[in-house]
Amino acid sequence: MIEDFFQRTRAMFDLPKGVVYLDGNSLGAMPKSARERVLHELDESWGRELIRAWNTAGWIDLPARVGDRIGALIGAPKGSVVAGDSTSVNLFKALLAALELAAPRKVILSDSGNFPTDLYVAEGVCRLLGRGHELRVVDPKAVECALNEGVGVLMLTEVGYRTGRKHDMRLLTEKAKALGAVMLWDLAHSAGAFPVDLAGCGVDFAVGCGYKYLNGGPGAPAFIYVRPDLQASVAPALSGWMGHAAPFAFELGYRPAPAVDRLRVGTPPVLSMSALDAALDVFEGVDMLALQERSIALSEDFIRRIEADCPELQLASPRDSAWRGSQVSFRFTEGYAAMQALIARGVIGDFREPDVMRFGFAPLYIGFSDVEMAARTLVEIVGRRLWDRPEYRARNKVT
Ligand SMILES: *Cc1c(COP(=O)(O)O)cnc(C)c1O
Repeated sequence: MIEDFFQRTRAMFDLPKGVVYLDGNSLGAMPKSARERVLHELDESWGRELIRAWNTAGWIDLPARVGDRIGALIGAPKGSVVAGDSTSVNLFKALLAALELAAPRKVILSDSGNFPTDLYVAEGVCRLLGRGHELRVVDPKAVECALNEGVGVLMLTEVGYRTGRKHDMRLLTEKAKALGAVMLWDLAHSAGAFPVDLAGCGVDFAVGCGYKYLNGGPGAPAFIYVRPDLQASVAPALSGWMGHAAPFAFELGYRPAPAVDRLRVGTPPVLSMSALDAALDVFEGVDMLALQERSIALSEDFIRRIEADCPELQLASPRDSAWRGSQVSFRFTEGYAAMQALIARGVIGDFREPDVMRFGFAPLYIGFSDVEMAARTLVEIVGRRLWDRPEYRARNKVT
């Protein structure tokens, strides 16, 4: 039954033959629907309708439409998520809004497992405000202890990109809010990977990525969530015309649009947002809990195989699946070269400094035979030192 279900979702993707794709945590595979949709938007909408397509093809409503579809996967009510911009830019928007609500508190608390762009953006926001704001970065395990009444915004990524370690969203949100802090989550490695309950957890702001588990394509638009009852008090820092109450009134002064639409900035990238919209078709009828169970089963199988036959590698991810996202990481001193050797044999994962080999398990298109193939290939590469070649050590720009 469940096997049949995932066979069907796999058939919705266009994957090259002979490739085992374990990098959906970084760039999701291509749904056939996304390809068809982009071709349609090019040939029919842009090509034939030209500028009329903003109305006739519904381009103008894409950010809200795609936002709502993503919202359904992350426990966000309709009208609370809007798609657009990159995750970094959305984080900038959310963080400025969150700090304004948190005033006079000036501390942003985050952790050292966070993705660097999140920390860089927070640094920039502190500098830009020029009012003594401070980014405090602690170990992921020390976040709960570091929360106190001085913290204005707790800014965390639910799943750490390096090890796949997962925070307890419910507990940390509850604790942050009880202490009067504003809660901002980055769902880059959560959305489309397992159930998220933004509304149920009382999260204030969230952002996330369109090109990882949501399969929206390279550089796909990201998304931003604002808790419904906060939306009216958000004064957008990036107050662009698409976030205006009446963009086509062309008024001289800015008036924010109602609700989350005020977090739109400029003209949406229609082609890539259409790809993301169509990619979300794959999630129709998918039970996120079943998806998570499948991801855990695949991950456990991979861990078991590697630990049994490849003692050179050390598990870097939490052993308990309750504290893992949908990826498994192993440490290996020659991890970069080993990953290149693996990729050369058609098993695609990636590498993060200094020694982490990452394997993402996107159950919509990865099955147990893929896990078996990947593990067997990796065991052979490490066991027979097949990674030990100069061409596998040469670093590419993107690792
Ligand atoms: C992937 C990822 C990003 C990516 O940000 P972009 O602006 O889309 O490049 C940001 N934050 C986290 C936590 C990520 O995992």
